[in-house]
Amino acid sequence: MRRSSDLIKLYFLGGLVLAALCLFGTTDDIRSLGYTIAAASLVPTVIIAMRRHRLDPRVCLVVGLVSVFSVLAQITAADSFGDSTVISGVFSLLSATSLVAALVVILRRSRDRRDTFGVLGDGAIVGLGSWVVTWIVFVQPMVASRPDSILGALLFSFYLPMSSVILFILSLLIFSARRRSTAMSFLALSLVFNLIGDVLYALIDIKGFDSGLERFSLAAYVAAYFCAGATFIHPSITRLMHPEVASGPVRVLGRLVLTTGSLIIPVIALAATSPYDDDDRWVRSISASVLAAAVTLRVVRTVRANNAAQDELLRSAQTDPLTLLPNRALLLKETERALTTQWGPDRLPTMYFIDLDRFKNINDSLGHATGDELLMLVASRLQTIVPDGSMVARLSGGEFVVLDTSSRNVGAALAVAERLLTVFREPFALAQGDVFVTASLGVASAASGSTSTAEDLLRHADTAMYRAKDAGRNCMAVYDESMHERIAKRLTVETALYRALDRRELRLYHQPILDLVNGDVIGFEALMRWQQADGSVVSPIEFIPIAEETGTIVPIGAWALLDALTQLRRWIDEGVCDPSATMSVNVSPRQLSDPNFPSIVSEALVRSDVPAQQLWLEVTESMMISDPELALATLRRLRSIGVRFALDDFGTGYSSLSLLQNFPLHRIKIDRAFVHGVADNPNDRALVRTIVAMGSSLGLDIVAEGVESVHQLQVLSDLGCHKAQGYLISHPVPADAMRSTVSALERLGLFPGLPPTSRLGFTGDR
Ligand code: C2E
Ligand code: MG
Ligand code: MG
Repeated sequence: MRRSSDLIKLYFLGGLVLAALCLFGTTDDIRSLGYTIAAASLVPTVIIAMRRHRLDPRVCLVVGLVSVFSVLAQITAADSFGDSTVISGVFSLLSATSLVAALVVILRRSRDRRDTFGVLGDGAIVGLGSWVVTWIVFVQPMVASRPDSILGALLFSFYLPMSSVILFILSLLIFSARRRSTAMSFLALSLVFNLIGDVLYALIDIKGFDSGLERFSLAAYVAAYFCAGATFIHPSITRLMHPEVASGPVRVLGRLVLTTGSLIIPVIALAATSPYDDDDRWVRSISASVLAAAVTLRVVRTVRANNAAQDELLRSAQTDPLTLLPNRALLLKETERALTTQWGPDRLPTMYFIDLDRFKNINDSLGHATGDELLMLVASRLQTIVPDGSMVARLSGGEFVVLDTSSRNVGAALAVAERLLTVFREPFALAQGDVFVTASLGVASAASGSTSTAEDLLRHADTAMYRAKDAGRNCMAVYDESMHERIAKRLTVETALYRALDRRELRLYHQPILDLVNGDVIGFEALMRWQQADGSVVSPIEFIPIAEETGTIVPIGAWALLDALTQLRRWIDEGVCDPSATMSVNVSPRQLSDPNFPSIVSEALVRSDVPAQQLWLEVTESMMISDPELALATLRRLRSIGVRFALDDFGTGYSSLSLLQNFPLHRIKIDRAFVHGVADNPNDRALVRTIVAMGSSLGLDIVAEGVESVHQLQVLSDLGCHKAQGYLISHPVPADAMRSTVSALERLGLFPGLPPTSRLGFTGDR
């Protein structure tokens, strides 16, 4: 950078000397020499640019031509060359044309290439407009006064229009530049000096001004060459040649004003002046026609370009950029069309929703490039296998949809679905190696006469696909109405559940746990109830899994914990139960995997002032199976503060012995499924006996759930299970009903003399 700026300073110093030579040179030859050296100096600068800044050799060549033609024009201008005006004029014109070409190339590099024609077209209009004005103001009067040198006059008269074009391109460069650079400023200066030189020259030659002006004209040209040279030496030329990606709004107003002005001014000039003679009339007519033709061509091209751009926009708005398959918008449009036009008794427009199983894993483990590669292979395989006339679309991620409008019946649709799944039988050959991928497929057809829209059909196919996923993936499912109802209901519950806590729609019921040896209520299990605004009560079996899935179980569970413990404290304080009574709270896997869970529990214990030993957390086996390490860590942390854990629904899960050994559990709750048959079914009885024996030998507390009959209670007691809960003892009841429930239980004295069944289980939410 430092070296470049030194070089530029040195270069300008040389420029100053040459400009001085042109201004103060005593003879024509000295002045001409100054100009020629200045013009030739452009060549070494482009060579430097090519070497240092790796400038495209083509740009350098065109700029070099500007220099060469200028030198030739200057040399041939000497009187020793026969018709010097014409030859020199031709070279000058070639030089100016090269300059325009160089600027167009630079412009092409620095801005959107697709607009090149527009730039050239506008340049031509500005040039032609200037030509008309130049003709009327300068050339025609000159031709009329010097009829002997028409060719020279004409050649010369091209200068001003050409200068206008150059100015126009410069303005485009400046208007469209995203960031101004030093090279750009040098270029602008160069072109401005060039224009000054042209105008001065025109004034001398055409209007016969004092030829002393020529010195200034030459000096202006020298300045123009040196500024052009500095453009190429300066490192920021690379920025001028490479457009930045982030572009701001392109300012079109200046361009529009210039182009429109170039149209209006000639029209006014033509209208305001009358032709001098027939020749003048001809030149005017031809010039005006060419200008009109250029404008027409420009308009036609612009309209076409706009149409093409609109088509392209539409295409890209309807295509998936990766696989080039139709996207969701086009799929829906086609489906809508099929539903309205191609429906008939023998037609069953069918959608197949294909979702790659665990596609996220592939992306995460093998990288997004591999994921993309896989998607493209899937897309091409699907395209080869679908029935003729079907559409394969990609929605997002690993989701593809096939729309088949030619299906005739469900059987045929299923056959197509089978065939689509065969796409995943063979491995996909990716750059990183072969990969096997499976997919889940949902099928939905628009039965004749139904009012399904394209969106409906897509949603149905999606629903069916999820059903296939639930069924274990790598299979298909066909949509039926019940799926929709289930999903709709679930969605309603999901939405309402988010607000249930704030709206105080959740409450806890409690079920007493009885010690069968002495008939005492030794604790309670808190069971959640959701009473919706319309009065309907939703079972926890229905909403807990949803809360679990959506994560709402975390705040809800925290609330339940605190509420249950606060309630226990109140009952103890009010003498409803023994001071050592316990509270059992159900905890779901999501809560256990929440890193804040131990502190939520501790806080609830502190706030309710209940000792940790009086809290039982009921967990199920699934948690300990799905993430044993995390579960173990949480259980140990809570165990260390005195909280105890009960294994709920024992017998229904994996019931692994190692689970009982490895986890810090203190209680097992025999599931009501076994308690139910314990009185009558020898197998159940044998099982309960085994569970009790095993639990006792491990030193575990055992509670039987769901005791409904005296007989069951008796058998359980005989088998060594001495704690129970169930409808026989009491249904889950609201907190304010617990006092009467407990005192009734104690009054009855359940064991050993069992009371009549009819008098038990009298309260609660049956
Ligand atoms: P669970 O923890 O096994 O609770 C026992 C379920 O059996 C309760 O159903 C209770 O009402 C019912 N039950 C009690 N005695 C009998 C009986 O003699 N016969 C019959 N047929 N049923 C009996 P509930 O209240 O509908 O709760 C169902 C499940 O929902 C619970 O099973 C528990 O897993 C879950 N749940 C309830 N409340 C919560 C909670 O606050 N948090 C979490 N995470 N889960 C909860
Ligand atoms: Mg429970
Ligand atoms: Mg249970």
